[in-house]
Amino acid sequence: MLETLRRIVQEVNEARDLDQALQIIVQSVKQVMKTDVCSVYLTDFSNHDRVLMATDGLNPKSVGRVRLKQNEGVTSVVCERAEPLNLEDAPSHPKYKYLPETEEEDFHAFLGVPIIHHRKTLGVLVVQQLQKRSFDDNEVTLLMTIAAQLAGAIAHAEASGGIDGLRQSSDKRLMHRDRPFRGLPGAPGVAKGLSRVLYPSADLDAVPNRHTENTEKEKLAFLNAVEATRKDINVLKLRVAQLPEEDRALFDAYLLILESDSLIKKTLSKIDTGLWASTALRDVVQEQVKVFAAMEDEYLSERSQDIKDLGRRILVHLQSKQDGVRSYEDNTVLVGDELAASDLVEVPPDKLVAVVCTQGSGSSHVAILARALGVPAVMGAQDLPTSKVDALNIIVDGYQGCIYINPSETVHKEYERLINEEAELSAGLETLKGKPAETPDGVRVPLYVNSGLLADISTSLESGAEGIGLYRTEFPFMIRDQFPGEDEQAQIYKQVLSTFAGKPVILRTLDVGGDKNLSYFPIKEDNPFLGWRGIRISLDHPDIFTTQLRAMLRASAGQDNLHILFPMITSIDEVKEAVNLVNRAREELLDEGKVDIHMPRIGAMIEVPSAVYEAESIAKRVDFLSIGTNDLVQYLLAVDRNNSQVADLYDCLHPAVIRAVLQVMQAASKQQIPVSVCGEMAGDPAAALLLLGMGLNSLSMSTIALPRIKWVIRSFTQQRAKELLEQALQLEGAKEIRHLLNREIDNAGLGGLLRPGK
Ligand code: PEP
Ligand code: MG
Repeated sequence: MLETLRRIVQEVNEARDLDQALQIIVQSVKQVMKTDVCSVYLTDFSNHDRVLMATDGLNPKSVGRVRLKQNEGVTSVVCERAEPLNLEDAPSHPKYKYLPETEEEDFHAFLGVPIIHHRKTLGVLVVQQLQKRSFDDNEVTLLMTIAAQLAGAIAHAEASGGIDGLRQSSDKRLMHRDRPFRGLPGAPGVAKGLSRVLYPSADLDAVPNRHTENTEKEKLAFLNAVEATRKDINVLKLRVAQLPEEDRALFDAYLLILESDSLIKKTLSKIDTGLWASTALRDVVQEQVKVFAAMEDEYLSERSQDIKDLGRRILVHLQSKQDGVRSYEDNTVLVGDELAASDLVEVPPDKLVAVVCTQGSGSSHVAILARALGVPAVMGAQDLPTSKVDALNIIVDGYQGCIYINPSETVHKEYERLINEEAELSAGLETLKGKPAETPDGVRVPLYVNSGLLADISTSLESGAEGIGLYRTEFPFMIRDQFPGEDEQAQIYKQVLSTFAGKPVILRTLDVGGDKNLSYFPIKEDNPFLGWRGIRISLDHPDIFTTQLRAMLRASAGQDNLHILFPMITSIDEVKEAVNLVNRAREELLDEGKVDIHMPRIGAMIEVPSAVYEAESIAKRVDFLSIGTNDLVQYLLAVDRNNSQVADLYDCLHPAVIRAVLQVMQAASKQQIPVSVCGEMAGDPAAALLLLGMGLNSLSMSTIALPRIKWVIRSFTQQRAKELLEQALQLEGAKEIRHLLNREIDNAGLGGLLRPGK
């Protein structure tokens, strides 16, 4: 049964459009459940009617015509209660509504289950039978399982419906689609551009729809890839020469397929229609795989795997010629399922205008990097069919977390207006640049920036930042293909320290693991956020750690602004060990005759619940604390910062987070050391108001957030912020707290600042 379910879900996911997806569902479910009828009703959310969208068993002409009002018919009971309804004789139910178009008068037994996706009832999956009978428990749970599995696929098909029609392959005439794809706000801002889909290599299913002007070049590339694959297979065949004839036959079969019209000619003729070689190959292989997989004969059906394998091998050769020379159009919107921070850095900064990712959330490192680069981002746009949206016009709204593919002139104009408004707001904020971040009652709250790239260092300085509150040293590690050496690191750090000479610069030691991986230092774990991460790796690898510490210290020679920060501290022992290694690295350098090296100020990140409870003991051993709310929220609330499914639960204004920050603040002031917030919470205007009330010594955020937060600091007295903090502590939920703070900001006439928040 599991296998059947898996097959249905896969077929539904591969369906061309919603109609085809629903047709596959009703036919397969009717067969699996052995019923006389299976139908799907979907809710039309514009008026809450339920529309019969597909049926196998009722009159097919009634599809699309039968509409039930919100509380009509037995399906309304299923929707209203959001639970299954099992009726021995549906016509005798008081809510039953006879629908003549369906010709369903003969059916008595009825079982309907809701199709629910993210708490929303999308519709009802119904099976019916001629005779009067009650469906047994097994049947009910089976239909519920099917509906639960299909809900995501239906939502996906519904959301992506119509994308295929946006481009007619040969003439590339474009049609418009004004329904946005929804995701999560990743980085604020709005941008228009041309989508560029990045996809994993050697994966045929991930190849996007892409077109070519030069079909001859593509055909040649394809034929060369086939030839290279043929050579590979011959080599493999020779390697297994000692095997019996029977086992070697597989390779002959491969060679035959490689010569067959079904693969070669079909691919070539698809390229002739204007398709890119990889896209044409993907389509032909997928068609062939389907044909073989559907064959009754087990031997023949197994051949589908051979075709897939061959397709992948040809693709690898095609890609080996394409990659390496990735060039990007002006106004590139980078789109992908799983983009890595390094993908963003690879696009020249003047060409990248926005980022869209179907996975992750606003707290993922890709989103953080987008904010650092000042480009809007939408994360977790789960329903966006990435393979179908390459090279299309796209508008990315990083405030709302939505994307428009090929929108009409009307939507364009609306966004044009928003972009202009945005420019006005920025111009208004620009005037604050030279002014201090000081409240009307005279409290100074220095604002620092978070950085990690050399490219954004001068922008950071120009933004009016008073220092670097968090330099994520892992970013330079991520964009290389081996560990950078001591000299190379020292040069990078020196540039950062000297650009901000006279101002504090906090260099955080390597924080890899979790969702930040180094291609040359792979870590495979089931639960990476609870695994080998941050300081744990550094302490386990004194070679890597000491090289980094030495590079930092050397870079600071002659300057007095270096601060070193340890990530992911969970115990006092880790602090002691790390501090010892800093001391040792400095002594080594002094012994080597490098004299002008001051002892840096040392800090610990508080981003794990255990560190909140240990904050006072930690504070005794360091010079400052920095609260990493991105991780603190995820560990305190048990919400994966990258999981768009639970992103609604991820909120830095959760009362538990506020209390934790307050507790750290109190521990630090007892030990008389400064404490800062360097997580994204600091750049959220509503949260910044609370942090002001708590008396944080400084805040560190992305350059893009800095002017807005300065506006907040300059607009509210600390006294008022303290009162608001008191009120917030009386409230029980993040929503109420946000409402309280947003209202205050709005009343102060700063409503425009709220866009980037939730
Ligand atoms: C944090 O966790 O809040 C933080 C600043 O570090 P990162 O986002 O790099 O994990
Ligand atoms: Mg962190």
